[in-house]
Amino acid sequence: MAKYFIVNGVCSTRKTPVGYQFKVGDDGNYYAVGSLRLSGPSTDSDSSTETHTGKFLTGLGFKCRECGNDNFSTCGKCGTMFCIQSGAPTVTCPTCGNVISITWVDSIDEVSESSSKSSKQ
Ligand SMILES: [Zn+2]
Ligand SMILES: [Zn+2]
Repeated sequence: MAKYFIVNGVCSTRKTPVGYQFKVGDDGNYYAVGSLRLSGPSTDSDSSTETHTGKFLTGLGFKCRECGNDNFSTCGKCGTMFCIQSGAPTVTCPTCGNVISITWVDSIDEVSESSSKSSKQ
């Protein structure tokens, strides 16, 4: 029984609103599986007050429908979720302009197990 939900985000390349679709995994984490175009600013969201307790991870085959980026991140400043390209060292938040540096690890398993401190530079 797969459960899905949508998080309102912004495409970091085109700065357009995008809805990122997440699947609730058996482990309680959330896997990004796709994105869809949000039509207009007035989306009656019934899940805006819902709190999510799992981790947000990138699922297989995820792609931003606006620009084709294959990953996503969340701004620690304003909380906006936006697409990023895998391997990009930094990304600028499309909402508040916050520049975020990203540490990439080899696999998703590493992230969930040992808190990632492997900064290869
Ligand atoms: Zn995008
Ligand atoms: Zn931001």
